[in-house]
Amino acid sequence: MTTEQNQTQSQAQPQNLTDGMRIVVQALKKNGIDTIFGVVGIPVTDLARHAQEEGIRYIGFRHEQSAGNAAAIAGYLTKKPGICLTVSAPGFLNGITALANATTNGFPMIQISGSSDRAIIDLQQGDYEEMDQMNIAKPFCKAAYRINKPEDVATGIARAIRAATSGRPGGVYLDLTTAMLAATMDQDEADKTLFTVVDPAPASIPSAASVDQALSLIASAKSPLIILGKGAAYAQADDTIKAFIEKTGIPFLPMSMAKGLLPDDHPQSAAAARGFVMKGADVVILIGARLNWLLGHGKGKHWNPAVKFVQLDIEPKEFDSNRPIDAPVAGDIVSSMQAFVDGLAKHQIKVDPSWMDAINKDKAVNAQKMEAKLASTAEPMNFFNALKAVRDVLDKQRDYYLVNEGANTLDDTRNVINMYEPRKRLDCGTWGVMGIGMGFALGAAITTGKQVVSIHGDSAFGFSGMEVETMCRFKLPITVVVFNNGGIYKGDSPNLSGGTDPSPTTLMPDAHYEKIIEAFGGTSYYAETPAELTKALTEAIASKKPCMIDVKIDPSVGLESGHIGNLNPSTALKS
Ligand code: ADP
Ligand code: MG
Repeated sequence: MTTEQNQTQSQAQPQNLTDGMRIVVQALKKNGIDTIFGVVGIPVTDLARHAQEEGIRYIGFRHEQSAGNAAAIAGYLTKKPGICLTVSAPGFLNGITALANATTNGFPMIQISGSSDRAIIDLQQGDYEEMDQMNIAKPFCKAAYRINKPEDVATGIARAIRAATSGRPGGVYLDLTTAMLAATMDQDEADKTLFTVVDPAPASIPSAASVDQALSLIASAKSPLIILGKGAAYAQADDTIKAFIEKTGIPFLPMSMAKGLLPDDHPQSAAAARGFVMKGADVVILIGARLNWLLGHGKGKHWNPAVKFVQLDIEPKEFDSNRPIDAPVAGDIVSSMQAFVDGLAKHQIKVDPSWMDAINKDKAVNAQKMEAKLASTAEPMNFFNALKAVRDVLDKQRDYYLVNEGANTLDDTRNVINMYEPRKRLDCGTWGVMGIGMGFALGAAITTGKQVVSIHGDSAFGFSGMEVETMCRFKLPITVVVFNNGGIYKGDSPNLSGGTDPSPTTLMPDAHYEKIIEAFGGTSYYAETPAELTKALTEAIASKKPCMIDVKIDPSVGLESGHIGNLNPSTALKS
């Protein structure tokens, strides 16, 4: 239906009627939702139009997965659910990857999707974009709901908001039937159904006994270690976490997205001595971090065999998931960390300086090794001399968001680029997944209005590259940096048949990714040397405009699977 036809039709309706999609917009507004990320089409186009008309910002993407990733990262940054709007069937499915990723990472997000005629779907009679969406969504999210009647809209939105943000945050699927979107109801009656959710994510106070038990264990430690995860970053308990760490003198290790919660150059950071502290710690305090694959499941050769664990988490089911937890503290991190700081009056915790001295020795050795790699004069550049150029520019900036995806590009950037402020590093997260890059970059820029530097491997960039158009359309201050070594992991792998087809991991080393942005009026740069990269990145950031830099990296450098080659079943055969 064209807008004109639509207007004619709505003019014909009596003044005091409203419809399902308008009530959805009102219910979102009533709950402080100010942005929707999505891709429109049947049956949600007018929902997006009404949202925009009502002052909700609508950010139209080129693919639902990126819209969903933008919503998820908006949720992570704000503690309010990010909203992703999708059309039925294929659009819905495209969004599901992002919804599942949000759930896995604990980011609050709601995917709102239009769906086709229930009666036809249920009898499988072949509707336009027929799909039993709600049931398909269920295993990929925390909760899934469907709104069938306009009078239930406010309740449905409230349930979605609570499910997304309370307890461990995650993704929620909200199904809006075409019939409900079109159904009319008296405006005054509809207004009466609207309400604002009171205290959507209630505090969860840890028991005094659990805090006592944890602090006693920590007080008995000789070589304690704090591991900060993105749950701690999400909680926004920045000051209490800092107070506890500095008052006790316990060294800390940030997980990737927790980098910057305390600055990476903090004297108690053990980031550059990761292996050493994991092997040496006798009591580990996990603050919003899970003992999943990223921490070797808390057992095995990387850990001290006698290590004991304290774990602070909002999700009690998490405890003992990979190994016994000696002192579980169930609660939200704001409340739990406050209880820990208060508990210091009773429990004397002061770390023996010899532990930090040993850590500092290991840090110094590793820092020296790293500086030697960064001092490389290789041309074409490798990851390290390229990243040194990037680091030297970014170290002068603090007020920017860093998005990062890739394999080697991810691992090496995480190790080289220091973060100084909380929640400024946004990356592949729990799954180690590619394809989040442009969605996260756009989500961060829209949500915060700040500069974003988005560093992608050439393969990773490909998954969301078309969003360069979105970034130019919305004139966002994002600099996209593509580390182009011409392949997945690296660009010079052979075709084992000896034939002329490129190998499975080969992409185009001579590609000029920066040219993509020229199609949309953005600024492009190409860098073959550290000096060119320094100049390009400095100019790009200063312009506060959409920019892209293709960084030529030697196709022969790059580890298979980056730092996680051990997870790749092929690696054993090859070596
Ligand atoms: P990382 O990958 O950085 O180690 P994870 O995503 O594995 O972090 O772990 C984050 C943990 O934080 C999850 O177990 C989650 O339940 C928990 N969490 C998230 N938000 C909060 C909160 N507000 N309070 C307490 N724990 C939280
Ligand atoms: Mg590559």
